[in-house]
Amino acid sequence: MAFDYRSSAAVFRTRSQDVTLQGLPMAERYDFLAGDGVPLKLTRYVGGTKGPVLLVHGAGVWSGMFMLPTLKENFVQYLVRHGYDTWLLDWRASVQLPLRQFTLDDAADHDMPAAVRRIREITGAESVQAVVHCAGSAAFFMSMAAGHLPDVRTVVASQVALHHHTPASTRFKALLRVPELLDAGLDSLTPDDASRTPLFQAAFTKVSSFLRMECDSPVCHRLSFMYGRLYRHARLNPETHARLEEQFGRCNLLTFRHLGQMSRGGHAVKFDYGRAENLRRYGQARPPDYLDPEPFQRPITFVSSEQNRTYLPSSTERTFQWLREANGARWYQRRMLPGYGHLDTFMGSTAAEDTYPVLREALEFQPR
Ligand SMILES: [Zn+2]
Repeated sequence: MAFDYRSSAAVFRTRSQDVTLQGLPMAERYDFLAGDGVPLKLTRYVGGTKGPVLLVHGAGVWSGMFMLPTLKENFVQYLVRHGYDTWLLDWRASVQLPLRQFTLDDAADHDMPAAVRRIREITGAESVQAVVHCAGSAAFFMSMAAGHLPDVRTVVASQVALHHHTPASTRFKALLRVPELLDAGLDSLTPDDASRTPLFQAAFTKVSSFLRMECDSPVCHRLSFMYGRLYRHARLNPETHARLEEQFGRCNLLTFRHLGQMSRGGHAVKFDYGRAENLRRYGQARPPDYLDPEPFQRPITFVSSEQNRTYLPSSTERTFQWLREANGARWYQRRMLPGYGHLDTFMGSTAAEDTYPVLREALEFQPR
């Protein structure tokens, strides 16, 4: 099947996030280039001398997921209040950047190393810490496995790392197969305007009456269709739920294909281009995997939310156990967040009391 690799402008709509959030210093903004020349963004809030800590968002969202204006205290405000030099990365998956087709290999090779290098250049720090979520965590771990991030001293992995375990019968799992079934002409999936993509619209209409039982937000219904249950409704306050469209946008199909391949294979592998192209690129018929434990000898905390139905908690359990067996138990710990789903881990109305303290403790984790 053929893909249109032209990048097109993101159609993401947002109200300005540049509202003054309580307790936050003035943002410092840095434009920089990934290793292959793709323009990326870093936003810094200096809360003190701890860190620097890099926050990496998932796919189909942007760094704003860590600083919702609708929470009493969001994750960035929380980290700043606790004295962290906090850095938000908008990597090539960000819906605030122009849409482009990319594999997670591209992000692992070019985005994560460039972001860490830029932060070290600006701060003069020897090393950085990182809190990484979902597809951002997957790409970050692939980058570590490839040996690109020796200067990251502590990692907190939210929901998924090197092993991908998605529920067998969910819509997310089904959606990960959709790109394989489509003809050329559709370059992205989006929750904001289903009418532009007839197949998506048709499939969506079938399930929307079922979804409508939980709430009456069309954006929320499309999100549920695309990713499965991304959050527990009970965890979101009404203001956050009403403004969900500010957080989400288009996700390119090449990334969906790659996530689908890893979901079916169960762990991180390079993109499968098909036998002929694999032989040309990799020198082997099957794409190589990222299962090299050696670069992971550093403190890592794996965090899964108990009710996550996008990536099952067994995803982090597998990477956690695999690394303990390979490198010894001293470097690793795992934390479960009871009662939480996927994105409410950061967007929940009481996350500042429930989940942020767990993530902060994980940043301070020292090998035993
Ligand atoms: Zn809803």
